[in-house]
Amino acid sequence: MTNLELIKKATLLLQKRGFENSDFEVACILCHLSALDKSHLVLEYGKPVNENLANELFEALERRIAGEPLQYILGEWSFMGLDFNLGPGVLIPRRETETLVEKVLQKAKSFESPIIFDLCAGTGCIGISIALKRPDATLYLLEKSEQAYPYMLENIRRYNLSNIKPVKGDLFSGFSNFDLPRPDIIVSNPPYIKSCRINDLQSEVKHEPYLALDGGEDGLDFYRALFEKWFPCLRHGGFMALECADDQADTISKIFSDPKQEILIEKDLFNIERFVFIRKQQEWMQILCRNGENNVN
Ligand code: GLN
Repeated sequence: MTNLELIKKATLLLQKRGFENSDFEVACILCHLSALDKSHLVLEYGKPVNENLANELFEALERRIAGEPLQYILGEWSFMGLDFNLGPGVLIPRRETETLVEKVLQKAKSFESPIIFDLCAGTGCIGISIALKRPDATLYLLEKSEQAYPYMLENIRRYNLSNIKPVKGDLFSGFSNFDLPRPDIIVSNPPYIKSCRINDLQSEVKHEPYLALDGGEDGLDFYRALFEKWFPCLRHGGFMALECADDQADTISKIFSDPKQEILIEKDLFNIERFVFIRKQQEWMQILCRNGENNVN
């Protein structure tokens, strides 16, 4: 059998099981197993199959058919044009989150050598992408999961970044429990699925860690903690940038609207309200607002 025949056989196997991008998936797995890039794979088409490789391919396809995400089988996935190590126990970076990073980079332009927190960092994809684009910034990446944290460390090492400081810990313990400087910017894509909804998720998502998905009874536990335990530490004039589910942006704005802050809801590439940006007013603005309220009373 030639490599091309093997590819056709494997593609058909996935197709029959209802996989839409079967040829792409087979190519990804084969390139990963043979350490070839896709353009070189084509050059191998006419050559006879290596038995071991064929066996490994079918083992991987079995895992895939059992519902394991392609990304876990490959052990890495691309985000912002960078490859991140990952595996079971850590959330797979999503395309939507790239928009969050782009918007943060845009809004961070006016900050010189900013201190930035990435809370619930997972693979570290958000913080690492920002750190690479902004070598003048210092990033603190917080992650509590025993499984996710080592992937985050691997990814920081992979890009040889000295402007990132990994922090192991729980967002719910709050800023005051860590020995950290006050940040200019806080970014977070926290778990936001309602606990009762986790079982309705598609089977692939169910392979991702519960910890990275479950946002509590109404899905908003992390946003409340971000408001109560992290927003106060933000420097005046700084901002928080949050990703959320498609029906949460308004409610999150309300959580942050007291005391009055400058809040902006932004859409993702599918035109869905996905991000909430909250700018912490300058101190003099807050005083002015407070006085204004007093006058009204
Ligand atoms: N910040 C990481 C990401 O966006 C992980 C998020 C999470 O675990 N909820 O991929």
